[in-house]
Amino acid sequence: MIKVSVNGYGTIGKRVADATLKQPDMELVGVAKTSPNYEAMVAFKRGMRIFVPKESKDKFIGAGIEPSGTIDEMIDESDVVVDATPNGVGAEYKKIYVEKGKPALFQGGEKSNVGEMSFSALCNYDEAVGKKYLRVVSCNTTAMLRSICTVNKVSQVKKVRGTVIRRAADPKEYKKGPINALVPDPASVPSHHAKDVNTVLKDLDIITMAVISPTNLMHVHLLDIELEKEVTREEILKQVLSTPRLVIVPGKAGINSTAELVELARDLGRERNDIPEVMIFEDSIYVKGKEVFMMYAVHQESIVVPENIDAVRAVSGIRESINVTNTSMGIRK
Ligand code: NAD
Repeated sequence: MIKVSVNGYGTIGKRVADATLKQPDMELVGVAKTSPNYEAMVAFKRGMRIFVPKESKDKFIGAGIEPSGTIDEMIDESDVVVDATPNGVGAEYKKIYVEKGKPALFQGGEKSNVGEMSFSALCNYDEAVGKKYLRVVSCNTTAMLRSICTVNKVSQVKKVRGTVIRRAADPKEYKKGPINALVPDPASVPSHHAKDVNTVLKDLDIITMAVISPTNLMHVHLLDIELEKEVTREEILKQVLSTPRLVIVPGKAGINSTAELVELARDLGRERNDIPEVMIFEDSIYVKGKEVFMMYAVHQESIVVPENIDAVRAVSGIRESINVTNTSMGIRK
């Protein structure tokens, strides 16, 4: 069993912890919390071991949460640490992981040099096997890479032009905005998403633009992918349909928006309304000669969770992961 701990129990961390509990070959050592808030209380009540900064022990005990030890002790007990702390904090923790000789995963908010490589399971799992420090790319980059590497199986991708319509905040974030504007992010081109895709597909000609939109449910991407040779729409559809983690949203389903996608997740009884699959609108797939167009939605809170689980196996030297992760998490094709 791979002993996994989660440092930073927020939006991403809590989902990775739950996914870890579902893996047949993993054991959750525990999660690190810095304050005894409602998230810490729920995790504790659910039986997770809570590890805290040394100086905060009394604060947690006072709040009715008995810590199982310090964050340092949690790291010592772990085979792999999944770091899901806020942007930049992971890079600080890296010194401790290195000092203790512990493999660790970082998230997309960290600079790309925090890991030995940026990770996208469908694009570069094999290359990641045996590495010690991986950065799981961000939600937008994860979705873009899954899509590009899938289309690349039909014909080599030559060029990508993409637009990212970003959600302004996660549902729990009440201080972020905008609430009444569409904001170019940044106003200059290209947006950082292209650069991030290039950390995985180094030679790809890709330019992206991004706009922040006043919504908190999902992102939407508009991609224009140019291929080496002419393909048919059927070939693209067939490839997408046979690739896990990408789902075709049928035109006849009556789903025209991210609001209805999240409602679907609710109706399906998905935990936390999560949608870890890239949701491609069927009718948006359009092929003209060597060009493929598509629009899809990305559930920012959960899309990177399967990749984190795969990355745990990769740094543990395990050559096969994607199918086990998909089955254990109930991920659809
Ligand atoms: P979050 O704020 O929801 O969670 C971060 C957690 O880390 C919080 O619980 C916070 O209390 C805790 N924390 C803060 N300082 C800490 C410390 N010193 N030690 C231990 N824990 C500490 O953030 P998030 O949205 O889960 O983002 C985490 C990472 O994942 C970032 O790199 C982010 O860019 C990336 N990411 C976020 C999303 C998203 O949409 N939320 C999607 C993909 C990737």
